[in-house]
Amino acid sequence: MRKCRTVGHDDLLVLSVTVGSLIGVSRYRLQPSPGQERALLEHCAHARFVWNLAVEQHAHWKAGRASAPGFAEQCRQLTEARAAFGWLGAGSIIVQQQALKDFAQAMANFFGKTHRRPTWRRRGRNEGFRIVAVKAGEVRRLSRRVGEVRVPKIGWVRFRWSRAVPEGVRSYRVTRDALGHWHVAFAVIPAPIPAPGTGAVVGVDRGVRVAAALSTGELLTVPALREAERTRLRRLLRKLAKAKLGSNRRGRVKQAIGRLRARESDRRKGWVEKTSTDLACRFDVIAVEDLKIAAMTRSAKGGMQAPGRNVQQKAGLNRGILANGWGALVKRLEEKAPSRVRKVNPRYTSQTCNSCVHRAAESRESQSRFRCVACGWRDNADVNAAKNVRDTAAGHAVAARGGLPLDEPANRDPQRDLFLVE
Ligand SMILES: [Zn+2]
Repeated sequence: MRKCRTVGHDDLLVLSVTVGSLIGVSRYRLQPSPGQERALLEHCAHARFVWNLAVEQHAHWKAGRASAPGFAEQCRQLTEARAAFGWLGAGSIIVQQQALKDFAQAMANFFGKTHRRPTWRRRGRNEGFRIVAVKAGEVRRLSRRVGEVRVPKIGWVRFRWSRAVPEGVRSYRVTRDALGHWHVAFAVIPAPIPAPGTGAVVGVDRGVRVAAALSTGELLTVPALREAERTRLRRLLRKLAKAKLGSNRRGRVKQAIGRLRARESDRRKGWVEKTSTDLACRFDVIAVEDLKIAAMTRSAKGGMQAPGRNVQQKAGLNRGILANGWGALVKRLEEKAPSRVRKVNPRYTSQTCNSCVHRAAESRESQSRFRCVACGWRDNADVNAAKNVRDTAAGHAVAARGGLPLDEPANRDPQRDLFLVE
């Protein structure tokens, strides 16, 4: 722990927050030598360069025009660029390719309406890179408090072994925070969870009022910052706006803000782990909306909103949830319940009555209430949508009955969806 010159109120808060945020974080403090730090910065610069090129390519793209280059095409262009520019070619291809992959993911999130459009990365902000295809033995423990990880083109870099590193690390991300500290976060693909074998199917809908609604009627919320923490964050942000550039005070305020944000993100990650495990244990088939289909619908129609969803209102509710919760939940589900996740076309799920299949936008009385204009059926709007997601997937599951796991992609035949009844 850094020793503070004067112990003021803020410092005490920083101390207490630090202790709290250590729980459940998979991040470790990287301790590169000065030479290694220069090499790490170079990796960061390459990742940033490649990312920014991709941002620029996509900036010119408008709905209706020929599509901007996708990941495969960009990889081909990267190979050309590496051949043409020695400094780029001398860098790690994994670092550069992963930057493209991160960008592709960011665009998918943007089209899936869970994130904003990816923007330029600036030097000294959001610095980092990802390494994949990590082999066994490339992360090892040296002593009780010291571990080391092999970084391409750099070699073994030490990190503080502050807690056990999980088995089976497949990839990791190296980041440099605003204070110039380096961190490494290890990603582990969790072992699949066996299906309960009951044939139970659940539909999960991205809620408007809550993070997710289940067809069972359960409404799941992501634990966010508490009221007192939000008040403190607002206060800190105001302080930051007033603090002089480069002042110690500014540094301390920034640090405190960073710790609060880290705490929020830890809670969200914990929620994703808990929820994905719970769903994988309880249900044989987990049906979710296919964000890619939502994205296609949108790009084909030039920015059309998914019917029945007020994107603006959703974005305002809790950006954090939408930013990371949903995508992370689906990803974890696919890892924990491989071939048991069904992605269904989300069209009309929010305006179709689950009781009589009548479709009308007016049936959605408000964000939270659904009342069918044809049959009078009432339900929580998100739960009604989740039931529709479940039933769409169940239709496919019935057709493929004869043995779980079902490994035929559920979205191969979207025309079968009862929601497409015109
Ligand atoms: Zn109805």
